[in-house]
Amino acid sequence: MNHTAIKPPAVGSHDDWLVSMPKADLHVHLVGSAAPATVAALAARHPDSGVPADAGELAAFYKFRDFPHFLDVYKLVSDLVRSPEDVVTLVAGMAEDMARQGTVYAEVTVTPVSHISAGINPGELAQALDIGVAAARACGVELAWVYDISALVERAGAHRTLDAALHHPPAALTGDQQSPHTQSTRSAPVVGTSSTTSDAEFLVVPR
Ligand SMILES: [Zn+2]
Repeated sequence: MNHTAIKPPAVGSHDDWLVSMPKADLHVHLVGSAAPATVAALAARHPDSGVPADAGELAAFYKFRDFPHFLDVYKLVSDLVRSPEDVVTLVAGMAEDMARQGTVYAEVTVTPVSHISAGINPGELAQALDIGVAAARACGVELAWVYDISALVERAGAHRTLDAALHHPPAALTGDQQSPHTQSTRSAPVVGTSSTTSDAEFLVVPR
């Protein structure tokens, strides 16, 4: 693993020491972790999105009023991801942020149905995630993917997720996880319980 491209700050204070310590992040969402600079870049690429590209306006946009408002913002940001290039931008931005924080390994939750609905086919998604893994590795961060079946999708959405995981997996796919409240995929081949996520989540090993 190459840890040289983006170096965490030199040790000087307590915070610097924490930052410089190598860390693993075992539960982070790809869209949810997008930093303002990454969101601004995507918003500039898609001016019709309703998401501001200006830093000041973006900060105001991210002031959550309540949980429904948080979900509205999350959906608008998620809708910025419309092409494989957008996925690569998202992953590369996340990896740079992780490198600055001293994260050397992360298992990242991806919700394929969101991206498939936006017009990215499962093969393109996998290819974009593979490119993202290479970009992350170049700045010293090793990534693995967890395909997430959102509690909001019906059985068809769950099967689309499984199809993507089984037939078009990115090279670094480690598993699928399913919300404990999702009842729609009981027929899915659940073969083990994830040790890295909460007890209530399932791990579907795709291969
Ligand atoms: Zn989560």
